[in-house]
Amino acid sequence: MTIEAPRLPQDIWSTEPFSDTPLHVGRPNVGDTEAFLELAQGIFDRRILSNNGPLVRELERQIERRLGVDHCVLMANGTVALEIAIVATGMRGEVIVPSYTFVATAHAVRWLGLTPVFADIDPETHTLSADAARRRVTRATGGIIGVHLWGQGADVGGIGALASELNIPVIYDAAHSFDSMISGKKIGAFGNAEVFSFHATKFFNTFEGGAVTTNDPQLADRLRLMRNFGFDGEDSVIHLGTNAKMTEICAAMGLINLQSIDAFVMRNRENYRLYESVFSTIPFAKLLSIAELDESNAQYVVVEIQPEAPRTRDDIVTALRAANVLARRYFWPGAHQMEPYRSLYPTADQHLPNTREVADRVVVLPTGTSVGAAEIQLIGDVFQRAFGMPGNRT
Ligand SMILES: *Cc1c(COP(=O)(O)O)cnc(C)c1O
Repeated sequence: MTIEAPRLPQDIWSTEPFSDTPLHVGRPNVGDTEAFLELAQGIFDRRILSNNGPLVRELERQIERRLGVDHCVLMANGTVALEIAIVATGMRGEVIVPSYTFVATAHAVRWLGLTPVFADIDPETHTLSADAARRRVTRATGGIIGVHLWGQGADVGGIGALASELNIPVIYDAAHSFDSMISGKKIGAFGNAEVFSFHATKFFNTFEGGAVTTNDPQLADRLRLMRNFGFDGEDSVIHLGTNAKMTEICAAMGLINLQSIDAFVMRNRENYRLYESVFSTIPFAKLLSIAELDESNAQYVVVEIQPEAPRTRDDIVTALRAANVLARRYFWPGAHQMEPYRSLYPTADQHLPNTREVADRVVVLPTGTSVGAAEIQLIGDVFQRAFGMPGNRT
């Protein structure tokens, strides 16, 4: 049986697409597929498809080593991993979260019947501002979730200090930040727990998947129970739980992709340097700087269109689309502008001026193993032409 990839409709104003295959943001990084098929055959031979199988356990050990963290608990996806981490760390009442993030950060809180409280970001780093978080504290505050957005570390110092002062748990949504570092230390052991997504579009993927990592052994035990209905033996359930187990086939994908991860990160950093040089000559478009490129997986190439630019961010996205570059407006319009939060908190905007501005300006450009120097040059030319400059293409 062959299954064809769906064809994208040809764009009506697509005058000069520079490639038949559209360039996507978040096109999956995939390692050695032959080796993957061998691992898959082993799964069929063993007839162990799920339930904490040998590949899941092996991937957990390898991730613990790679991140230098005591416990990695693999999960079915990043969202359920967030939900389990929120319950396992004992968050309650109001949980402070940024609005400038993928909506799952807020949804996980709300899904559990807790109250997400949106706090503003630092406009330079796009991550939760500890000062803004402090301004949203009430007597009901029972947790903080920082997000290591774009593969860059959140303000773990400021957020951690606020959480210890209030004596509440803190977790970091590290969905973007597998293999990134903060001041020489791999993300994975900050806060009470850190939560990863291994969704297909993320830097490191297991088709779908996620993990919670922590150095707290009791918390790790709870996480393991909770992802498997609370079972601690064949007939013994000792805790409330759900089903968040990763399958063996997903773990096989993880093991394969982990082998190629150094190549993935090198390509992203190379691409980032190329983008840096191309964007150094483009007016009105500021590439978000990565403070230490050696510390970032560089999975997100983020450009801010300046307010004085002769074209809007949306014009740029349309022009890119016409050239078959499927850039994204992440995270527009901000989680607080999506339902149910938009109806629940109609005035949330007042607290979120930086979120609003940044969400209106950002365009995320493709990178990863399917993007190279030629594509980056051409993307630069689209910006040059949009802003009325000659561009390098004739
Ligand atoms: C992708 C993502 C999630 C959700 O992870 P899934 O594995 O897709 O459930 C949560 N938070 C952020 C910031 C994400 O980007």
